[in-house]
Order: sequence, then structure tokens, then C-alpha cells
Amino acid sequence: MIEAFDNDWFDAGQLYKRWLSGHAPWFPSLPRDDTPAWYRDLPIGVRWYAWMEHRSFDRWYPHFVAYDGFVPLVKEIQQQGVRVIPYMNYRLWDTKWRTEKEREEFERIGRPSAVKDRRGHIFTEKYNSLFVVMCPAAAGYQQKMRGELERVAGYGVDGLYLDQVSAGRALPCFDPGHGHALGGGDNWLEHGFWKYLARFREELKRSHPDLIFEVEDMAEPYAHLADGFLANRSFVIDPGARRLPLFPSIYAGRVQFTGRNVSYEDPQEAYFHKLGEMLVQGEQIGPTTLLVTLGDEKRKAFLKALAHTRHALLPYFNAGEMARPLELEGVPTVSADWGYYGPRILDSPAVLNGVWKRGDSLAVVFVNVTAEAVATDVPLAAAVREIRAEAPALYRCEGASDQSAAEPLDARAQPPLRLEPYGVAVWMIDERSLDAEARGRVEAMARTLREVRAHGACLRAAASAAPAATNSMSSG
Ligand SMILES: [Zn+2]
Repeated sequence: MIEAFDNDWFDAGQLYKRWLSGHAPWFPSLPRDDTPAWYRDLPIGVRWYAWMEHRSFDRWYPHFVAYDGFVPLVKEIQQQGVRVIPYMNYRLWDTKWRTEKEREEFERIGRPSAVKDRRGHIFTEKYNSLFVVMCPAAAGYQQKMRGELERVAGYGVDGLYLDQVSAGRALPCFDPGHGHALGGGDNWLEHGFWKYLARFREELKRSHPDLIFEVEDMAEPYAHLADGFLANRSFVIDPGARRLPLFPSIYAGRVQFTGRNVSYEDPQEAYFHKLGEMLVQGEQIGPTTLLVTLGDEKRKAFLKALAHTRHALLPYFNAGEMARPLELEGVPTVSADWGYYGPRILDSPAVLNGVWKRGDSLAVVFVNVTAEAVATDVPLAAAVREIRAEAPALYRCEGASDQSAAEPLDARAQPPLRLEPYGVAVWMIDERSLDAEARGRVEAMARTLREVRAHGACLRAAASAAPAATNSMSSG
């Protein structure tokens, strides 16, 4: 696709999106009607590793058998209202085995199904063990995986996380027994995942209608096969490069994004930057290693505030589209070490924002990711031009108890936004006279932000006890 245009990354993405919607078989519908509502509405994601009988990670694939006691534990967790999505791998076969049966299965299915190079040699990759990479077009491996998916779904879990699908590189394969062109590349999608995973997804969803599929990282040819992309390391860029929400500006709502890598090693402030970015970009908030959050009152309060705000924004995230983010002037730039295999110093504005469009209404979400209050003018004129409201009005949901959601303000000359430390606000732009549905949405947002602010007391206390020391700030 080649088309001349004169603007920036956002417009380039929108041109591509227009092409996708008419031409790409992998471009999902909006709203995404083959994804269960519970998953689209999920405020926070929990994924479970090391649930297998050996309780280790990156060993013994592709044998996914739960330890004794896993099934009742899953049920108990679900009874608390928490969804369980166990980890699986859909690309590798371990070269070590625990039993004679596993050795025999490797020789009978694993080795013949492996990717072969020009000379017929198998292809290996090293993680915690040495693995053979499977050719997705090999029927033997696919039948093996069909059985594994069926078994794990039968444990009563809510979804299946399939590691390396969408993240692992596609390898050309020269095995004449697999039924694809030799070295032609069609083994990966056309004769591989598009054929088998598409079918398995359909079959398993028939017997488990609420089951979802998540895959690792974000690669668009898998969008129709996955309900969620683990956007784990979408921030892994060179220091100094600018992070742009290009992918969600095209795919948000059509596939869920399940958040960034948040780990023990991250310094304090990166937690707030990562979670803030997840919210404004419409992602599910998480994954974080549970203890990273649960051991810290300030993190818990922030996570909770963001989860509730996300919940109120779901009509925009799941049935709306991302519009161009605002350029806020005079907001300080803050640096933080985002981690992930070594120091990774990245810059962010202290106040992050996302603009979401649903029909002829807009929701602009703001998050202060720092321990200091920030005030900023908000240039709305360009955003308002995105919609065709006859008499656009602004509804400022900032959590003030004396602020009425029903009182519209002038969208062109509004007073500046003031956000307290780690504060959240949502500005909604809609008609001055709202219909019942839009009024309900605005009032729900105002109520949510009031509750978020009321319960943010421990965030404010923590921020005043430990002021700017947690962030290095500079004018930007
Ligand atoms: Zn092959």
C-alpha cells in the first residue's frame, strides 16, 4: 500500500487502518464479537506460570499436565472473582525427557515435526533447556497440541496463554513431509497457525464458550487468532527514542492488550509510569508480579484507582477508537529506569494522556505518574474537530465532590487541569444536551473519579511523606 500524505505517525497509522479494514483477513471486528465480554471488560489480568506437575518454567514442553490440587485451587480462586489463565508454550519441544514414553513421543512426533534446514537438520533454541522448534505445518505436532489445549481447557480455566505465538520468529522449513513449499515460508501462517490454531480456537470455543486465547507480544497476522496480545515488552526501545502508541491506535478494542512487564527489579517510579501508560493506551492493567504490588500501599492504591478508571472507560476502549493524543505544554519530563534486562532509562511526560473517540463523543484520560502535583493547560480544539457534535460541551470528571457531572463547560476556554500526585482525571466531550445513554456514561465516569479520589488518601499521604526524591524532574 502506497499513499501520499503530509502529517505524522498517527495519520500514517490511520491510512493503514483504513486499508486493513477492507483487505486484511486477520483484522478483527470492532466491537470484537468473538471475544467473551468478561475478557474485554477485565480491569486487571492474572496469568499463572509454573502450574504444571514439575512446577518449573521452560521445561518439558509440550507436556502440560497440572499438579495435584491445581483444579480445586483454580475453582477457589474463581470463586473470589478472579480469572485464571495458565501458561503454555506453542512452539517448542524439549530435547530432554523424564520417561521412556516421553522419549518415544519425541522420536515419533517431535523429531519428524521439527523445522528442518536445507540439509534436513533440526533447529534448536536454548532457554532453561535445549528445545527443538516445531514446524506449525506439521500435522503430528498440531495433533499433539490439540490434545494439550483440550486437556488444559478441561481443567476449568478461563483462558490459555500461548507463549511464543506472535513473538517467536517464523522459520523457513525444508521438510518435504510437512506438505508446504520447501523453504517457501508458507509453513508458518497459511499451512500453520492460520490453519490449525484457527480451527482449534473455533472447536474449543464451541465446548468452552467463555475460553479466551492470549499470545506473546504483538504481531498483527495473529490478531484474529488471539483475544489478547501480551504487550509485555512494547517499551523495549532504545533510550532517547520516543514511544508512540501506533499499534493500539490501529488495533485497540479489536484485540486486548494485557500490559507491560512490571517486575521486582524495577525501581519505584517505573511502576507508576508503566501502569499510567497502560491506562491511557486502553490496555488491561498488568501483568505485574503480584508481590510487587501487594507489598506496597501506594502501588496498591494506584493500581486500584487505575482499574476503576479503566472500568468506566470500557465503552470507549472496547467500542471506540484511539484518537490522536494531546500535546500538553509545560508538563515536566520525568526519567525512570524501566528495566527489563538491564537499566533502560526512558523519558515520559509527568502527565500522560489518551484520547478515545466513540461515535461523536470523546473521553480524554489523564494520569499524573509522579509524586508532585502538576498543572497544565489542555489544548482541546484539535480533538473537538474529530467529532461532529452540534454543540460540544466539556464534562470534567476530576473527582471534586462539589463538581457536578451534568454541568457543561466551554470546550475552548476551560481553566487548566490540576492533578494531585498520582492523580487521575477524565474529560468527556459530548453534546451539551445528552441523551439518556450518554448521560449515564458521563455520570458513571464522574462517580468513578469521585470514588477514586476519595480512596486516594493513602496515595496522597505517601506522596507528601516522600516528595520529589522518587523522580528526577526537569522542564520539558
Ligand atoms: Zn515444515
